[in-house]
Amino acid sequence: MGGAAKTRIVLLGPPGAGKGTQAKRLASELGLPHLSSGDILRAEVGRQSPLGIRAQSYMDRGELVPDALIIEMIASRIEGAEGFILDGFPRTVAQAEALEGVASIDVVLNIMLERGEVIRRLTARRVCSDCGAIRNLASEGLDESASCPSCGGTLSQRDDDRQEVIEHRFDVYTEQTAPLVSFYRERRLLADIDGSRPSDEVHAAVLRELTQ
Ligand SMILES: [Zn+2]
Repeated sequence: MGGAAKTRIVLLGPPGAGKGTQAKRLASELGLPHLSSGDILRAEVGRQSPLGIRAQSYMDRGELVPDALIIEMIASRIEGAEGFILDGFPRTVAQAEALEGVASIDVVLNIMLERGEVIRRLTARRVCSDCGAIRNLASEGLDESASCPSCGGTLSQRDDDRQEVIEHRFDVYTEQTAPLVSFYRERRLLADIDGSRPSDEVHAAVLRELTQ
């Protein structure tokens, strides 16, 4: 598997830290499945598997799908697997404890980005009203009045990318994840990765952690 010694991987990181990008790149380079709990849930419900049907019954009542059921779905995908990348799961200590009963984890990559930088990156996102392309003023060096570089359309900010929404998401993430970070640090599984660097450098740092 690309020479990586650690192949059972959990990824943590706030919105905007580039966690999804790193997960996809790792998955394709190492040939590991990239598993997000949201994707697994949608897939099981979509194909109406027995677990999917049970999950659907909670969703139809407007209730959260219980952790135990999510764990069962993830277990069915990772049991016996040589490696995997879990993205967005676990989110809580209770989920992490349940996960321990299903698979052992080699490393938890904690991609860190400070609040101010998360806000700077995410509030710079714009969507083109004509072609629908997502642009980033900061990373693409566009100014506030720029039009869409592909079609000349008007760029606007989605409600989800407003500063107060981003601030709230960051704070919820930090509050939820802090106990999880301690949990994995105590187990000596946590590897802190500085997410403020360019994506290629973050990727190189991740690979170093996996081959150690
Ligand atoms: Zn456009």
